[in-house]
Amino acid sequence: MERKGFVHEIENFELDNYHIQLNEALFHNANGYIGIRYDFEEEYPEGIEFIRGQYINGFYDEAGVSHPERLYGFIESKQFMVDVANTQTIKLFLEGEPFSLFSGKVLSRKLSLHMDKGVTIREVHWRSSTGKEILLKVTRMASFHQPSLFTIDYQVTPVNFSGEVVLESSHDVNVENFSDPTDPRTGSSCERCIHPTNCEIRDGGSYIGAITTRSGLQVYSGVKNLLSKEETPEFFVSENTAICVYRPWVEQGETLTLTKYCVFCDSVRHGNCKERTYYEMDRAIATTLPELYQLQEEYLSEYWKNCLVEIHGDTESDLALRYNLYQLIQSAGKDAHGSIAPKGLSGEGYEGHYFWDSEMYIQPFFTVTNPDMSKHLIEFRCQTLEAARENARILGHRIGALYPWRTIDGSECSGYFPAGSAQYHINGAVAYSIIAYYLATDDQEFMKEKGAEVLFETARLWVDVANYYKGEFHINDVTGPDEYTCIVNNNYYTNVLAQYHLRWAVKIYETLKDTVEIQDLIHRIGLTIKDLDEFRLMADNMYLPYDEDLKMNPQDDSFLKKSEWIPEVFQKEKTPLLLHYHPLNLYRHQICKQADTVLAHFILEDAQSEEVIRNSYDYYEKRTTHDSSLSRCIFSIMAARLGMKEKAVAYFGEAIKVDLLDLLGNTKDGIHTANMGGSYMVVVHGFGGFRLKESGISFHPVLPEKWAGYLFKICYRKRRLAIKVDQESCRFILEEGEEVPVVVYGKGYLLRDELVLPLE
Ligand code: BGC
Repeated sequence: MERKGFVHEIENFELDNYHIQLNEALFHNANGYIGIRYDFEEEYPEGIEFIRGQYINGFYDEAGVSHPERLYGFIESKQFMVDVANTQTIKLFLEGEPFSLFSGKVLSRKLSLHMDKGVTIREVHWRSSTGKEILLKVTRMASFHQPSLFTIDYQVTPVNFSGEVVLESSHDVNVENFSDPTDPRTGSSCERCIHPTNCEIRDGGSYIGAITTRSGLQVYSGVKNLLSKEETPEFFVSENTAICVYRPWVEQGETLTLTKYCVFCDSVRHGNCKERTYYEMDRAIATTLPELYQLQEEYLSEYWKNCLVEIHGDTESDLALRYNLYQLIQSAGKDAHGSIAPKGLSGEGYEGHYFWDSEMYIQPFFTVTNPDMSKHLIEFRCQTLEAARENARILGHRIGALYPWRTIDGSECSGYFPAGSAQYHINGAVAYSIIAYYLATDDQEFMKEKGAEVLFETARLWVDVANYYKGEFHINDVTGPDEYTCIVNNNYYTNVLAQYHLRWAVKIYETLKDTVEIQDLIHRIGLTIKDLDEFRLMADNMYLPYDEDLKMNPQDDSFLKKSEWIPEVFQKEKTPLLLHYHPLNLYRHQICKQADTVLAHFILEDAQSEEVIRNSYDYYEKRTTHDSSLSRCIFSIMAARLGMKEKAVAYFGEAIKVDLLDLLGNTKDGIHTANMGGSYMVVVHGFGGFRLKESGISFHPVLPEKWAGYLFKICYRKRRLAIKVDQESCRFILEEGEEVPVVVYGKGYLLRDELVLPLE
């Protein structure tokens, strides 16, 4: 049985280049470890452009970076996510005629994504040029139960004939990365990145080993094809390709099924990835496909139980939000070797690098719906702490750690430092996510073992970078979130986040200082009482830009002194501005790519008065292009908070469908995961008014006119709460766990079973 509102489907999906590439991303299958773009198994005719890609989270090659004017500390190489073995291809022939949606006659076609079952399905009714008709149903799955496994369940039913069909299922490493030299947001080198080391048939399956060009990492893939009929396959093997061919006879009306089990293993995670691949294949084959489907459904049922959001009275937004949340679990790394890339595992945009997107836009979702996932993401930062220390040294800091702006293995991959490495606020993002995890779980063990070290080391960096001037601490020459304003002094967002970070470093120390682990830690990293005093002093005396006349927070020391931008900036054809204007031109103007101070006012609202928050919102809204997909969701949250419900809905409407409607025109390069997390925050933090603070959890629900109501869930310290809002009331239901204090509209309650309050 389908769950209502869990299927996204397209009848008669388009077959032009644009839609083929868009659907490759929109219908990709991923599980946080592997990601496979949605390509037709039968491949495409000449002239069709596609980006057939399959990726492993955290698996990368390196490329040299050349700077015509190389200065000290500039990166010399960078990592990028690699396209690994192609296991997607299955060609079908009827009397020698290949099945293709571009020949014969397509009588019907449909593509669907099932977010409760975790599969994509393509259904086609096709007639060959000689009149033979078949029904084709292809189900694809990236298993959550066994992350190395991708399956294709390929079913063919002859409608009006009986006869021989030929199935050619292949497996190859004849792959290249995609690149578009005209767009800085995609990769720039399309050389062949993996090279076969061996290709063998073993125990009825094909296994191909490959090694990357520069990083020397190995990847193995294995493929086993099982046919529903007794039939011996023929194999054709070359250096980089293995083809398995079946020629069964099929009766009219009979369904022939080819099940393709594909497993992937990499040397980032496994010492002997060849043996591991054999093991993973044996494990996969030992489970039947129906059992695997069952396990997939169980995994997702647990997922939705904790994170379901419903929007009543707006079916489109309801489905779009579910789509976004589904993509988050598909994209998120589930071990310490991978995080969440801006495009997840759906494409090569931003080269698979991890940014602050994970901590500030996606982790807030996991922290309050699935805290273990949040912990994995933090573990990625813990695992790369040493590299962050090295990065700090490269940038001239004597102490502390500075996380790189973009990375895969922990070292800096940003080649353009003004809008890259200068974004020191990433340290605050890492700290913010650890603090939020701690607030949501009270997991002191984790803080002692891992979290505190990252918190202290990143806090030390602020002390090293800041300058004490006339009684206040200034953080100079950094870039805030808004990438159209670079290398500034005292970016408000950075300073206020650093202040919060420093305060929490002290708090965590004070809470846990009597434990052996923290004593060992401060001894090991040489953190002294003097350091902690400095943290306190700096937090208490942090300079935060404020303009007395406008009664708002300037984005930085120079922002208000800059010229206003010419109005045609908001013309569609000129955006994103980064593709049309020299960076210096942008930097000299009061023009913002994305939420910056407004974001600071969302995450740290207690730092300013209502008046300042409102004035700042009004000021920046007029000057923000939202050229980054990380922007509209934040303006939506703040519009809801400031009582502008309809404006909030309008921003939300655009944010939520960024990918499904390809509103930014680049979804082909991959989905926008930060925006997906952001659209969740709009409902929960924006309309639901949810906040997670040291004082506990609080809500301030509001309902937009357009909606009949909404529902969301929150997991907080081993409890699960459901919050249902309709036109009259808001209901807080304790679904699991012990009673819990909650604050609603500023008033405290103890939630036992259910609390019903009138909607304000
Ligand atoms: C945004 C950054 C973001 C990056 C990756 C850029 O366009 O300005 O804030 O981290 O995209 O999503």
